Amino acid sequence: MKKLQMVDLVGQREAIKDDIDSAFTEIMDNAAFINGPYVHQFQADLEKYLDVKNVIPCANGTDALQIAMMGLGLQPGDEVITADFTFAATVEVIALLQLTPVLVDVEEDTFNISPEAIEKAITPKTKAIVPVHLFGHAANMDAIMDLAVKHNLYVIEDNAQGIGSSYHYKDGSSQKTGTIGHVSATSFFPSKNLGCYGDGGAIFTNDDELAHTIRGIVNHGMYERYHHDVVGVNSRLDSLQAAVLKAKLPKLDEYNSRRQKAARAYTEALKNHKDIVTPSAKTNRPCENKTLGICDTCSCHVFHQYTLQIKNGKRDSLAEYLKSQNIPHGIYYPIPLHEQKAYKDSRYNHKDFKVTNQLSDEVISLPMHTELDQEQIDFITGHILKYLEEGGFDSAQPPRKNGSAQ
Ligand SMILES: *Cc1c(COP(=O)(O)O)cnc(C)c1O
Repeated sequence: MKKLQMVDLVGQREAIKDDIDSAFTEIMDNAAFINGPYVHQFQADLEKYLDVKNVIPCANGTDALQIAMMGLGLQPGDEVITADFTFAATVEVIALLQLTPVLVDVEEDTFNISPEAIEKAITPKTKAIVPVHLFGHAANMDAIMDLAVKHNLYVIEDNAQGIGSSYHYKDGSSQKTGTIGHVSATSFFPSKNLGCYGDGGAIFTNDDELAHTIRGIVNHGMYERYHHDVVGVNSRLDSLQAAVLKAKLPKLDEYNSRRQKAARAYTEALKNHKDIVTPSAKTNRPCENKTLGICDTCSCHVFHQYTLQIKNGKRDSLAEYLKSQNIPHGIYYPIPLHEQKAYKDSRYNHKDFKVTNQLSDEVISLPMHTELDQEQIDFITGHILKYLEEGGFDSAQPPRKNGSAQ
């Protein structure tokens, strides 16, 4: 069996190695390291793929979120609503810009921000909502965009985990995540669904005026050389990273369908167990081609992570067992953001985060990448089931026989 890894980027490189090697040589020969032709070509390719008017590359996904908020002109004290159950970057940039983060609970089945919780948290100071398409699953954009219109709010999509995913509207039409709100941010961190070989990110928007503002912000607030009209930052995607992304982008749909295939195989093996809840791939569209709760025809979930809930208090002991068997896994995320030291706030009531609190205790993510094969999946799921049934294969946790309680 191939070595088990949470993410396998070496295996993935094989098919694109020649393209990338020749691009790297060309970039080095021409010394066009910043803002070279590859950056512009990748930007244009991504605009076409997403069907969005403007892609503005930048240095990483966290910068992309920050710059999106700067571009919208959000002011200190403005309230920005986001999910309690996500990676900290989302809330970090809100706080960094001296905006007021307002964390809200997520939905039980999708782990995504709850529209009901958003509505309850809206005040006259609320200016924006930041839905995160968590683990690659599109958030409920019908409801979120309705709320935004009703309350005159901006929507900033955090698409760092969702690139290539589509949101399917109630009326049957669909649109790529990251192109629905006013502006969106993505990350090209190596392990993301479209990852480079270092740091990278981008901002997407269909608003040309906002795109113009943002293009200045990423470059020290310059719209004309050495004229600094606004306070900006330095945030660039370099040419080497753009070359990797340009080579990978034509394969993104294939990469995502390989992830979906692996997800189906995991779910096939783990469904219907009393201690396991497999990830849902709920969509608004009634899908005809749905197996194991995952649509075959719509890419509403691109499985950045394949995340189980382990019930009955068994998550931590299962994680220990997997560790003892050298089976990689991750707990994303172990602590709700409202409980993190940096983001605690007296406005929060722990009881209002029922789903996040529970998920923090129950989630476990399994290896998920484009190179997983059935043998590896059988090995991983076999160990999980064996452990939950009998306490494992080895002496680390001896199986309990009937009547031998101690
Ligand atoms: C990875 C990630 C980010 C940050 O991206 P970086 O490129 O690492 O800065 C932001 N939000 C979410 C949800 C992420 O998963």
